[in-house]
Amino acid sequence: MSKVYMENGKLVVPDHVTVPFIEGDGVGAEITPVCQQIVNVAVEAAYHGQRSIEWKEVLAGGKAFKETGEWLPEATMDAFREYLVGIKGPLTTPVGGGIRSLNVALRQALDLYVCLRPVRWFKGVSSPVKEPEKVNMHIFRENTEDIYAGIEWEQGTPEARKFYDFLHNEMGVKNVRFPETSSFGVKPVSKEGTQRLVRAAIEYALYHKLASVTLVHKGNIMKFTEGGFKRWGYEVAEKEFSEQTFTMNQFEQLKKDLGEESARAEMAKAVNGGKILVKDCIADAFLQNTLLMPDDYSVIATLNLNGDYISDQLAAMVGGIGIAPGANINYQTGHAIFEATHGTAPNIAGKNIVNPCSLLLSSVMMLEYLGWKEAAALITEALEEAFSKGQATNDLARFMPDGQSLSTTDFGQLIVDLL
Ligand code: NAD
Repeated sequence: MSKVYMENGKLVVPDHVTVPFIEGDGVGAEITPVCQQIVNVAVEAAYHGQRSIEWKEVLAGGKAFKETGEWLPEATMDAFREYLVGIKGPLTTPVGGGIRSLNVALRQALDLYVCLRPVRWFKGVSSPVKEPEKVNMHIFRENTEDIYAGIEWEQGTPEARKFYDFLHNEMGVKNVRFPETSSFGVKPVSKEGTQRLVRAAIEYALYHKLASVTLVHKGNIMKFTEGGFKRWGYEVAEKEFSEQTFTMNQFEQLKKDLGEESARAEMAKAVNGGKILVKDCIADAFLQNTLLMPDDYSVIATLNLNGDYISDQLAAMVGGIGIAPGANINYQTGHAIFEATHGTAPNIAGKNIVNPCSLLLSSVMMLEYLGWKEAAALITEALEEAFSKGQATNDLARFMPDGQSLSTTDFGQLIVDLL
């Protein structure tokens, strides 16, 4: 077996590849083997032995702590560094101790700056929206910056006092309403961090032939951080992808120069000619718009905190967290960790009822990332068939008309049989 590597900015994937995996805590022990079996069968069905995956277990979370005394052993980090592409089940967040979150630690160590969440609806799955078939979005959430970076000080500590004194005495900040009882957080948003994220989103839209990229921000209020995100995002599109994109920024300029009618004509020409429309939307309006006219959006590029909210809302529109896949990726180094987006679900662990589809669809994303599209498509088609007949785990089946609740292992076997 051999390793995935990068050559001239491109991922090189051997036919027989080793993939490190973290089983995951709680329901991880149930979903991981089911997903691996399905992936193995799909790869065999698609390539008849020409391609295969060797799964290499690495430890993290509760299992790692039990066996090694560490939550995230260095050997695990080394395996992800070395093999580039890996996958993980959900991890318990350690209570107390130095690590805030194992997921954040992994993302930071490998500088996985894109959190990619594709959101699509499967026929048969119950949805709270009227036209779920119109939901097909791909969220690019910035993963390393923003108020999420964890730079904050608790009220009442000497650090919070010192930070406030600096703001007040040296920066002339006079509008902290309750300085004595305030905690403080810092929100770094950089041009570099924004541009690598937006670049990845545009390249993804080009590769998958998607119609638009929307920059979602609160730049109307936070002018330098979120407003910067919007400006720098448009700049990437206009400077680096001028042949392939048309931006709403250009539209506004044309409107000023030539009038609205000519600007609209130019935009229509660009879009009809196959250019990607790069637009922006204020985050609150965006959440509303995704409910009212979801088909207006395709690829979404957004900051870390906005991305968190957006991911959950969109996931809820197509069936909830049991079915929402995700990945954390650095497109420059090739490092990528695909993951179940839900937690360890301790309330249902060990009952053989957990839905394996979040991890399974993340495995599909991984196969696509490796360029093994045929195997990925086989799994997606099998899922479409099962859901359209109302066959699913209980979390989905209970809301389906004529739904048939299957255990985790029976659902896994059904997908294997369909493959
Ligand atoms: P959770 O996602 O584990 O569970 C929330 C609810 O959703 C529960 O009722 C659970 O039964 C249900 N659920 C989750 N996944 C499901 C699935 N695949 N199929 C059916 N039902 C499912 O969130 P929580 O309870 O807040 O967190 C539990 C633990 O997981 C905590 O330690 C938390 O820190 C951790 N966590 C880890 C991750 C991760 O590793 N990515 C993400 C979120 C939470």
